[in-house]
Amino acid sequence: MTEISRHDVLIAGGGLAGLRAAVQVHDAGGTVAVISKVYPIRSHSGAAQGGVNASLGNHPEGGDDSWKGHAFDTIKGSDYLADQPRAEILAQDAPERVFEMEHWGAYFSRFPDGRIAQRPFGGAGFPRTCYAADRTGHQLLHTLWEQCLKRGITFLNEWFVTRIVTHDGRAGGVVALHVPSGRIRTFAADVVIVAGGGYGRVFAKTTNAYINTGSLTAAAYRAGARLEDMEFIQFHPTTLYGTNILMTEGVRGEGGYLLNAEGKRFMDRYAPSVLELAPRDIVARAIQTEIDEGRGLEDEYVHLDIRHLGADVIKEKLPGIRQIAMDFAGVDPIEEPIPVQPGQHYSMGGISCDENGETDVPGLLAAGECSCVSVHGANRLGGNSLLETLVFGKRAGDRAVEIAGGVSEEAMTGALADALLEERDVVGKLRGRTDGERQIEIRRDMQRTMTDRVGLFRDQGRLADAVRELARLRTRYRRVAVGSGHAAFNYDLIDTFELGGMLELAEVTALGALVREESRGGHWRTDHPKRDDRNWLKHTMATRGRAGQPVIDYEDVLMAGYEPMERKY
Ligand SMILES: Cc1cc2nc3c(=O)[nH]c(=O)nc-3n(C[C@H](O)[C@H](O)[C@H](O)COP(=O)(O)OP(=O)(O)OC[C@H]3O[C@@H](n4cnc5c(N)ncnc54)[C@H](O)[C@@H]3O)c2cc1C
Repeated sequence: MTEISRHDVLIAGGGLAGLRAAVQVHDAGGTVAVISKVYPIRSHSGAAQGGVNASLGNHPEGGDDSWKGHAFDTIKGSDYLADQPRAEILAQDAPERVFEMEHWGAYFSRFPDGRIAQRPFGGAGFPRTCYAADRTGHQLLHTLWEQCLKRGITFLNEWFVTRIVTHDGRAGGVVALHVPSGRIRTFAADVVIVAGGGYGRVFAKTTNAYINTGSLTAAAYRAGARLEDMEFIQFHPTTLYGTNILMTEGVRGEGGYLLNAEGKRFMDRYAPSVLELAPRDIVARAIQTEIDEGRGLEDEYVHLDIRHLGADVIKEKLPGIRQIAMDFAGVDPIEEPIPVQPGQHYSMGGISCDENGETDVPGLLAAGECSCVSVHGANRLGGNSLLETLVFGKRAGDRAVEIAGGVSEEAMTGALADALLEERDVVGKLRGRTDGERQIEIRRDMQRTMTDRVGLFRDQGRLADAVRELARLRTRYRRVAVGSGHAAFNYDLIDTFELGGMLELAEVTALGALVREESRGGHWRTDHPKRDDRNWLKHTMATRGRAGQPVIDYEDVLMAGYEPMERKY
């Protein structure tokens, strides 16, 4: 039997982008539900540390800051791959979105005069990163959660979306599995907004939470949405050696510096004017070069030193970092430098959409890290991602309400019923198959392949190898088996289901990187070490072919008068 639950707008994902969109749909008069595989406040947004950008000009050195400066820094930081009009929207809307969060109750750190404090971040011409100590994401997520509760927004918690349902090419709801009970059902909606976060867990070394598997990105791709610029992965320079937990850029923003095994600062060789505050791609490659050339410690890491800041500053501004370093590396940064190495951190690419979240599939919108509005291009600036969730989450909410309605309910109900039967069959078969290879083996091989061959430094040989290996992993995945057929909290089943999507996203990432014969932002080809605007100032677009294989195409970058120039810092 098909149970019907229908909303104007269904938001898949309860992180910052999903919650900001939900508030907007509600305030614009639409009915809305948020469906999330974890309780919303456990979304990865809550782990964000360093801050959110807005040209408030509050810092003593930030008085002349303007949205134009913010847009310019974002476009330059993107290595000119960002769509320029959209980067302008990001920068223009930023102050309003940040003040709104403040008025809704977010506890920002403050300057002595009471204004929101701002710290310098990499690639930014002014100190414009607003922060709440080093727990900014936690603050923002709880604030938006409260706003949702206040509005009585419906939450469907611990429902894992397996599929986005379409009829005649238009989205009309989802099929989801209830994690605590194993029940599978459909949820109908005129508009579905996907806000599923990043897919960092495709890599072995990542700052991302275990839940960041990109399963909603894969669902959108399967529903016909195109994926854009997936080869552009951000490797964060400073992740804790051993666990790859993030050590925020705020550490360097507050004056922390990097030391190699000889105890020497080395960033003057790579970014002489801004040193440690160069954009992330540049600092990450500098660290890896030090390690590869034998100047790393134990051939694995370098030191991030903040001892000179003193105990008071560290305790006030970087308490979370100190706690993580003590708990996970046994190092108190007041006394000793922190061992760090680069690790996967963010996906600049994602579900291709416009400035209002609309994808190629009518009725399907995307917002947040899973989307590619293309404001980050080839390299995202720190602090711009939290901002993106607020700016484009809101815009997607507005657009969703505008386009809700006009869906043939009868046709959609039929499509949902068919999809439900199919998904029950797929999941039932997976659950029943206990004889075969376990998902964890395939997952580990995928993660190794991605970190070793689609990592910080890439070349034709390694990338071609990765593409071949991923094809082999997909073959192995066909014989994957689940350890238990239990219905309740069967995480092995969910992990196994998700791995299928992760393999597809990995393939699109590796293939895009193999074909793109230039170096730009986070995509660094040692065999093509120069940016090539003549041939490659364009977005990579992947469509899912009939047999499930990615078909690659290209689209122009949208310009707004910022002429590409050499990116020097
Ligand atoms: C450690 C860390 C620190 C960071 N620090 C900063 C920072 O200081 N500044 C900054 O600008 N950016 C930072 N970032 C990046 C930024 O936090 C993220 O890009 C952003 O918060 C993503 O928000 P989101 O709403 O798109 O996704 P998320 O917060 O990841 O939420 C995704 C949601 O999707 C749901 N979901 C996923 N799959 C399914 C499914 N199949 N079914 C149902 N629900 C599903 C999840 O339950 C979750 O609610 C950081 C990232 C990390 C990892």
